[in-house]
Amino acid sequence: MSILKINDQVIWRGGWGEDAPKIAKVTAIEINCNGSKEGDEVAETSWDNIKDRDAIISLDNDHWCWGFQISPITSTEEPSSIVPDDKVQMLWECPECKQQESYGPEWYQDNGTPMCECDEDMVYIHTKILK
Ligand SMILES: [Zn+2]
Repeated sequence: MSILKINDQVIWRGGWGEDAPKIAKVTAIEINCNGSKEGDEVAETSWDNIKDRDAIISLDNDHWCWGFQISPITSTEEPSSIVPDDKVQMLWECPECKQQESYGPEWYQDNGTPMCECDEDMVYIHTKILK
């Protein structure tokens, strides 16, 4: 099981559709937030807890973000500081019918949380960086 710790580098995406994903260093982790800013500060946690608005991550670039805005650096190559939008795919799943959809960053410019055809809000699963 992979663990996110303070001082880890992660892929961070700021304003949807405006900023390219960047590498940032984690300076604080709060979990159990449930969409509020009242969470539990921890030094490390499973990446399983870093999703949706359950976690708030503070970064060394003076930003904070929700769990769904960061993802682990999985590539074994040296991370480049900027990943082009067309190389980023975010996978979402419908909790009702388990339909899965991938969206590129440009999609978020005009839309918020993806919705399934069955009217459920989809749940963010992970981000893939395409080679
Ligand atoms: Zn559905």
